[in-house]
Amino acid sequence: MNTAPLYGGLEAGGTKFVCAVGTEPQDIRAEARFPTTTPHETIRKTLDFFREQQELAGSRLTAIGIASFGPVDLNPASPTFGYITSTPKAGWQNVDLVGTIRHELNVPVGFDTDVNGAALGEGLWGAARGLDTFIYLTIGTGIGGGGMVGGQIIHGLLHPEMGHIRIPHDPQSDPYEGSCPYHGDCLEGLASGPAIEARWGTRAENLPPDHPAWDLEAHYLALALTNFICVLSPQRIILGGGVMRQGHLFPRIQAGVQKLLRGYIRARPVLEKIGEYIVPPALGERAGVLGAIALARRAAHSAGLATY
Ligand code: ADP
Ligand code: ZN
Repeated sequence: MNTAPLYGGLEAGGTKFVCAVGTEPQDIRAEARFPTTTPHETIRKTLDFFREQQELAGSRLTAIGIASFGPVDLNPASPTFGYITSTPKAGWQNVDLVGTIRHELNVPVGFDTDVNGAALGEGLWGAARGLDTFIYLTIGTGIGGGGMVGGQIIHGLLHPEMGHIRIPHDPQSDPYEGSCPYHGDCLEGLASGPAIEARWGTRAENLPPDHPAWDLEAHYLALALTNFICVLSPQRIILGGGVMRQGHLFPRIQAGVQKLLRGYIRARPVLEKIGEYIVPPALGERAGVLGAIALARRAAHSAGLATY
């Protein structure tokens, strides 16, 4: 019987689920990904993967971490803790993701938002190593943000919804009304991948780097980051998600943030080293699932099963 700790990670996304087993970035022993269909089918595939991996390893997983799309209920005292709650994704409202997995596999489960998970992973192994206050944003099908303040993952009332902040929107220069079903022209409504596609009539990945879409995109993201910098004072900002595969956005966003702040935030990373301040995830496309493994490690630690 193998007794070394072994962790399961689930990145539960609205488009796909990614499952992995391992202990750290250099030690991912198996990975599986499948599209997010019905809760029943998607959770069954997840359970099949983890059961199979337990059999292969000849031992039970020490803990599982779940980094999920949301909104989710993170309050351990709530009767709906571990549920996906008011998501606009059809069929996924009020789904007991954590309870089902814990019940079926009978191991400790660490749970957080997808972006808090990714932030934790980046803090442990990636672009935010050694920092205690930073944020991670994904710009993809939606926009979400998470992070740490003073070494603690940001929770609170529910959890941050950084994608739904309101930013200035000039309907004269950008008549697109926004795609958010709740707010129309919030940040997500103006700057997510689907918003870019709806505004310009072409999928974001097919717009050339010199298309006007990108200066507008960088402008909206710079406005948002300026707000986050003023509110949270992050020591670094990590930007991931499909839209940020457009690497040319980084220098535009960095210049935009400096312009909007006008030298008011007197910190070297912002004034002189903005290229190292607003950065892509060091864990790349694996930030999500590695974040889930990081959540599993924390859960095991809390349960007294392993050192963190
Ligand atoms: P999800 O948010 O669903 O987990 P992604 O982060 O890949 O997945 O985001 C998907 C969105 O990103 C889509 O709207 C897609 O058009 C956009 N996207 C994907 N790849 C690129 C790319 N290379 N450049 C710009 N936009 C992209
Ligand atoms: Zn919104």
